[in-house]
Amino acid sequence: MRSWKQEPGSENLLRLKRSAENCYARMIELEAATSAELQSAVDEFLRYPPSPEDSTSFFAVAGELARRRLGLRPFGVQLLAAMNILRGRVVDMATGEGKTLVGFLVAAAYATMGRRVHVLSANDYLAERDAEFGSAFFASFGLSVSAVTQAMPRNSRRDAFRSDVVYATVHQVGFDLLRDRQRTQHDDAIVEGMDVAIVDEIDAVLIDDAMVPLVIAGEADTQAPDAELLDAVRGLQPNVDYEVDADGLAASFTEKGIESLEAALGGLNLYDDDSNDKLTAAHLALHAHALVHRDIDYVVSGDRIELINTTRGRVAQRQRWPDGLQAAVEQKERLPVSPQARVLDQMLVETVVREYTTLTGMSGTAAEAAERIQEDLDLRTGVIPRNRPLRRTDLPDRLFLTRSQRNEAAALHVAEARSLSRPVLVGTGSVRESEEFASVLAGHGISAAVLNAKNDAEEAEIIARSGTAGTATVSTQMAGRGVDIMLDAEASRAGGLLVLGLGRYDSMRLDHQLRGRAGRQGDPGESIFYTSLEDPVVTENLEIGVTPERVSATGLIEDAWFQEVYEHAQRVAEGKALQLHRTTRSYHTVTDRHRALTLRRRDRILYDVPGALDGLLDSIFPDAPGLREQWIQPEKCELLRQVALYQIDHGWADHLEHLASVREGIHLRVLGRQNPLDEFLIIANESLARLESEYLARCAETLGRAHDEARAIEDLGLRRPSSTWTYMVTDNPFGSEADRVAEFIGHLVQGKRPRAVRYV
Ligand code: ADP
Repeated sequence: MRSWKQEPGSENLLRLKRSAENCYARMIELEAATSAELQSAVDEFLRYPPSPEDSTSFFAVAGELARRRLGLRPFGVQLLAAMNILRGRVVDMATGEGKTLVGFLVAAAYATMGRRVHVLSANDYLAERDAEFGSAFFASFGLSVSAVTQAMPRNSRRDAFRSDVVYATVHQVGFDLLRDRQRTQHDDAIVEGMDVAIVDEIDAVLIDDAMVPLVIAGEADTQAPDAELLDAVRGLQPNVDYEVDADGLAASFTEKGIESLEAALGGLNLYDDDSNDKLTAAHLALHAHALVHRDIDYVVSGDRIELINTTRGRVAQRQRWPDGLQAAVEQKERLPVSPQARVLDQMLVETVVREYTTLTGMSGTAAEAAERIQEDLDLRTGVIPRNRPLRRTDLPDRLFLTRSQRNEAAALHVAEARSLSRPVLVGTGSVRESEEFASVLAGHGISAAVLNAKNDAEEAEIIARSGTAGTATVSTQMAGRGVDIMLDAEASRAGGLLVLGLGRYDSMRLDHQLRGRAGRQGDPGESIFYTSLEDPVVTENLEIGVTPERVSATGLIEDAWFQEVYEHAQRVAEGKALQLHRTTRSYHTVTDRHRALTLRRRDRILYDVPGALDGLLDSIFPDAPGLREQWIQPEKCELLRQVALYQIDHGWADHLEHLASVREGIHLRVLGRQNPLDEFLIIANESLARLESEYLARCAETLGRAHDEARAIEDLGLRRPSSTWTYMVTDNPFGSEADRVAEFIGHLVQGKRPRAVRYV
């Protein structure tokens, strides 16, 4: 069993053990209480709310109400977890230990204190499920609870956010914050109160997803991609016209490829200054053609592309690539090209989370992220012991030379488990790998349920059934997350669930999440990883110069130290991810600061803070008191406000676009031995200063041409986007920032143009 160790960011949560035991005893006593007695205890808490330091009696009452309303009597360890979370600690509780119920208890405590609580779930399906399941419990405290999901229209979202306890994904909250920042009347806000967040799977949100930008965009002129060019690229030959790097992250045209393209395009010179856009488009088309693969990077669903999140191996809802690449892939699949957007605003998942006054959370793998959680959020993490001892056996990896040997051996293992009626859950790295392995299994006469990472609710159902004796389920890392796998009696007798990982993931934490699927609540179970030297985690991170000496006839590597090599590759992958995380954050910190300044100005106008409009008029018309008087009149004032808001938003979108293009080119400066981030900062701050003066100039220009009849900004020729939409951007479609820098310089040194991928 994992226990507390004095490691950075970690804390001993058993300090509250005695209080939790008292709480449990008190809760059991309350089983004899009448409804009226419990109700008066609740009323008392509403008058004298619990405090983080003294929550024993509250959780005793809440625990008994959970038993009565939900049929679940909290275990002592759940009370211990709830008490610690209320004190601001992040708790590590293994999968299946009942984090949902812990979330209910803590949310009720905060809400009883009069705080507004958001419980951030892993997906919409879980948000809805939990809000519904918990509603009877929350109602006994007189608390309202709602879920906010992607499908909900604006008004329902607004109502839902007014509940005492709100279940939603961090993405939905972020999108609504972005929408709110476009509003032109202050009482139009969707989100009310970014107060307390209880983050489920906090390490996934803060590490795996933290750097995903959430974007709001409005319609812009759609530029149809160049079909002729895309067709020409499609006709090129690999290794003749273009080359793909060994790691599959970069592709470049050969001289011959450029010639073929130029010929196909009617003898154009692609390196002419006038052909700049064409060359960029050609590179994008090449990426779409050679680097982005159907069923690994994306799936086609109806007439749309849906991206696959590679850490999760599942469809990333509402995610898209930067515009040019998105369009090129849509063209490649001969789908309608989605409208191109003007980015109005954007922020990182991490920035959304930082908006909360109080932040806390839980996860089955938080302890491994304790140092990061402390570094990023200044929160301490500790481990809650299991309710029942772990009965899962984690077997050592079986490492093979090749993927096909690995798959073959893994299939035999599945077949053996099945012959014993044992259920098997196979975890893979991608949708395509899931399908490949399912066909290997089919070759052994085993039909498996394959989760295609497309529908959370359907997956939940399949995963829930995967503990039935004799079933085999193949799934990507996160499919069916948060869903309980219950064993039937026969499966239990046969040794419980066997979790078989096919290749390790890019981080050991993700491996552990997969293992955690087996052995819930003291169930028997087993986990094993089948790996190979051809797994992406190895090929993308390490060049192994030697070959193993002792290899069995089936390809099993018997040199023990190769296992260490494999694990080293995984650590390299973790290091790269961390580096990318830090670099991305440094750039975004600059933008975040600028956004905060801009928002402050915007809010002063939006809320009509006394003096805000006068100040603006003073700056615009310093020498014309008459004009000032005219604009400050009540009948003109609203138009003035709307002009100011429009110009702030317009300028901000320009600023973001400028920063994106600066970031794209910034690595050139590495050649001049300047620190790219310092350079970025200088340019960004200059741009911010320009934003200020342009704002005033644009306001002056618009107001200067206002006529007496003008009542709305449309009368002055200004128009806000008539529709907006939100999405996530995959920030690093082709590897880490460091890879790109290296490649960028490589291209320059070879006298070639760098490829131009816009990353936001
Ligand atoms: P986690 O999110 O930690 O993996 P869940 O919240 O999904 O775990 O709970 C796992 C299972 O345990 C669910 O079926 C839940 O109903 C059950 N459970 C949780 N707490 C209790 C309890 N105190 N008593 C009985 N069953 C519980």
